Amino acid sequence: MEEKTARRRIVLVPVPAQGHISPMMQLAKSLHLKGFSITVAQTKFNYFTPSDDFTDIQFVTIQETLPESDFKNLGPIELQHKLNKECQESFKDCLGQLLLQQSNKITCVIYDEFMYFAEAAAKEFNLPSVIFSTTSATAFACRSVFDKLYANNVLAPLNDTLEYYFSEPEGQKEELVPEFHPLRYKDFPVSRWASLESIMELYRNTVDKRTASFVIINTASCLESLSLSWLQQKLEIPVYPIGPLHMMASAPTSLLEENMSCIEWLNKQKKDSVIFISLGSLALMEISEVMETALGLDSSNQHFLWVIRPGLVPGSEWIEYLPEKFSKIVSERGYIVKWAPQKEVLAHPAVGGFWSHCGWNSTLESIGEGVPMICRPFSGDQKVNARYLECVWKIGIQVEGELEREAVKRAVKRLMVSQEGGEMRKRAVSLRERLRSSVREGGSSHNSLDEFVHLMKTM
Ligand code: UDP
Repeated sequence: MEEKTARRRIVLVPVPAQGHISPMMQLAKSLHLKGFSITVAQTKFNYFTPSDDFTDIQFVTIQETLPESDFKNLGPIELQHKLNKECQESFKDCLGQLLLQQSNKITCVIYDEFMYFAEAAAKEFNLPSVIFSTTSATAFACRSVFDKLYANNVLAPLNDTLEYYFSEPEGQKEELVPEFHPLRYKDFPVSRWASLESIMELYRNTVDKRTASFVIINTASCLESLSLSWLQQKLEIPVYPIGPLHMMASAPTSLLEENMSCIEWLNKQKKDSVIFISLGSLALMEISEVMETALGLDSSNQHFLWVIRPGLVPGSEWIEYLPEKFSKIVSERGYIVKWAPQKEVLAHPAVGGFWSHCGWNSTLESIGEGVPMICRPFSGDQKVNARYLECVWKIGIQVEGELEREAVKRAVKRLMVSQEGGEMRKRAVSLRERLRSSVREGGSSHNSLDEFVHLMKTM
């Protein structure tokens, strides 16, 4: 009891989306283990229901009044704009209440870079604030120069599906961006869900440090040392790489129920024989793309575990459109679930490759288990991660252009059975070991977190 009252409190503000909630909850766990009391302030949408692992952590609701339809119908970029407008005042109320109630002092507010409204509230109460980037340091760096590229007019809409690429002059899409080797203009984090102006405005806000005292990033210096140094120089406040957080403090963070039966299925498969296919919590596909994937998997002759989220194909219930013939293939050498325990799956010895959309959490989880990847990015920072997987860490094969069965088959066979795939697996295992060292006592991320914690305690 005595120890509890002596603890200082940190308030955390996550984005209400799976890929942001998970690292924020891992951060909550890590900081709690380091001796802080933690309050998580979340919106009512995508509310994270804490399991027993979080009994020591306080959860409060930011009382925004956005209609349910906004959460359902708006794309992530527009929703983020609305949340930032809507939550500013309600978070001030929330923080004011906490300051009245808490016997232990609030040390700081740590907010997801996309929830920048939280900084204004912290400032109002004279509390230090910290930006938490749940994406890579490189993606953060890309967002920092976005306005310059935008002003230079190298961005243009590609077509009316609202997918944007750098397209002026024509050949430039393939060109490398100066200072950002090996990123090409087309790898920059644009989104298929919003207008260019809207993306620009959001990025301008997320990279604006305002009065924040520090930036902490869910990454490790062995993955992104150049981008981290670049950011450190540009931001002029301390930048701490403190990840991968799922390796620092594991805790169940899934918003959806995980189908554990796939682990029993994996138990019956040979080492490194299964390709795991999972595209995160937000990606959308056309029926034709899912069909081409199915046909490519069929002709690859490999065993597969495939996550198909209900809603992956807008307008469909689940997988009713897959042909009868495919059910036979699934029964022979496949398994399909709606949502998997992804970290356990990647850690399973039977899994030899990961077909992924390259969300940052999925990327870290795969590297953390030494599993090489097939990269099929959809939007935003996924393209940056895919490029790094292929060209920097050399543990990924990117499938670009229209998705068709031959390309799926080729990529799967290259990763799962070729010598080149074997080499990638070796490199992935060696990167895994470097990540493991960085989170161990004395490792770079471990030290970074300790340094950050020390500063928080002496603030
Ligand atoms: N995930 C999971 N089960 C699944 C698919 C995904 O637990 O079947 C988790 C995955 O482990 C990761 C998160 O969902 O932690 C997805 O985050 P990521 O940044 O990879 O992608 P996003 O969903 O943000 O696009």
